[in-house]
Amino acid sequence: MKKMIWAVILSAALWLGYAALASAGEDEGTLTQEDDGGEVQWIDITTPEELASMQEGGAYRLAADLDMSGTDWTPLAFQGKFDGNGYAILNLRITQTGSCVRSTYDGNMVQYDTYFTGFFDALENAEVTGLRLINLRIDVDTDKPCFAGGIAGYMEKSSISDSSVQGILSLKAHERMFGVGGMIGYGCGSIERTRADVTLVNIDTDASTKDEQFMGGACAAGYPDVNDCEVVIAGFDSDHGYVHDGGLIGMYIFYPRGTVYHGKITNNHVSGKIRFFEDNTNRRAYCKGFIGEIMVWEFDNAGNETEEFVRDEIFTYDKDILPHECDSPSLKETVTEASCDFGFTTISCENCGYTETDHYTLKSHDYEWTVVEEAKVGEKGLRHGVCRGCGAETDEEIPELEIPEGVKVLEPEDAAPTVAVVEEVPTEAPPEKEEKKGGGAWIVIALLAAGAVTAVFLLLRKRK
Ligand SMILES: [Zn+2]
Ligand SMILES: [Zn+2]
Repeated sequence: MKKMIWAVILSAALWLGYAALASAGEDEGTLTQEDDGGEVQWIDITTPEELASMQEGGAYRLAADLDMSGTDWTPLAFQGKFDGNGYAILNLRITQTGSCVRSTYDGNMVQYDTYFTGFFDALENAEVTGLRLINLRIDVDTDKPCFAGGIAGYMEKSSISDSSVQGILSLKAHERMFGVGGMIGYGCGSIERTRADVTLVNIDTDASTKDEQFMGGACAAGYPDVNDCEVVIAGFDSDHGYVHDGGLIGMYIFYPRGTVYHGKITNNHVSGKIRFFEDNTNRRAYCKGFIGEIMVWEFDNAGNETEEFVRDEIFTYDKDILPHECDSPSLKETVTEASCDFGFTTISCENCGYTETDHYTLKSHDYEWTVVEEAKVGEKGLRHGVCRGCGAETDEEIPELEIPEGVKVLEPEDAAPTVAVVEEVPTEAPPEKEEKKGGGAWIVIALLAAGAVTAVFLLLRKRK
């Protein structure tokens, strides 16, 4: 019997010590990307605000679908890790360039100090996987040299994998170096198993200079390795200079001068069309389903399919080419409600048949809930949901119970003790006696402990 009592006291003490240590550890939140063991310390993102507060070197992972409606995104220069983790970012809108300035080069190796725009501004030494951008809207009008890309405006020493971009990316540029790409604008690095279903719009707002213009379903210009990707492109390109448009890549170029590399562009599938004009008597009009202009044939090239691509050149230069050109548009909106998939609004023109989708809404699952932990007064509960439609699972807090009106809650001073716990100071005692009583309890425990040690000691000796 004595043994049992002591076992209980001992285990209680151990448990209390462990609990104290554990709660102390909880406060040590870390923002470092890797701990000493080299394991990535992911920072979960569950709200648009958390997405907007990403820092350039962190390791971020989505933990929820995000609806970015109503925000104007600031392109983020990024050197960390990003994992979409099966979630999507809806309705991200961008109307500005980032602040990074990097060198870009045209086919004559003329260098330009260039600005960029996209979800990421410049990706450098970064890893992006599982990023899903749905209804991305880039609408940038700039007087600087500029490249726009759905995932990143600029990329170097970085990789993008298992990602997707769907949306309308539109760039109006006044300077003579610019371009738009479905996945990235300008750069190198690796893009794998990524899909772009994009409407790309490039408008040259200065007809007086012959500019260098680029467009590509994956990348506008550069030498990225692009493998196992899919592009569905609707390109609209109005240029008073030199057009370099490709279903996959606008211009494939090693830069700067002297760069030695062997690239890999394999197993990509391109479909769609690019409608363009090149207002230039010194014509090039590079526009192809695969790569618009290839400066260097130094890459593995196998398994690429581009036969469904339409090159649609027009020869009137006075009017910019837009996705929806209609003299008398008659737009109709049809809402598809969210279900186990995202909802959206289809906007269609009854006059010409043009359609686009917009205003995506977060999924709305039909959950069957199981209570994991009941809520109590002053204590949140937890419930687990499994969707009857698709099996998606989620956990949700149950709000703490409110005290019903008319019920008086006893304050600690006048409440009767309900459970006797050794460590707890008896609450019915007047404050001045507390210390004495508490102290008395500890003296008793100390004496009992001493007795126990002696008892165990004696027991052990007896057995020998
Ligand atoms: Zn569902
Ligand atoms: Zn129309």
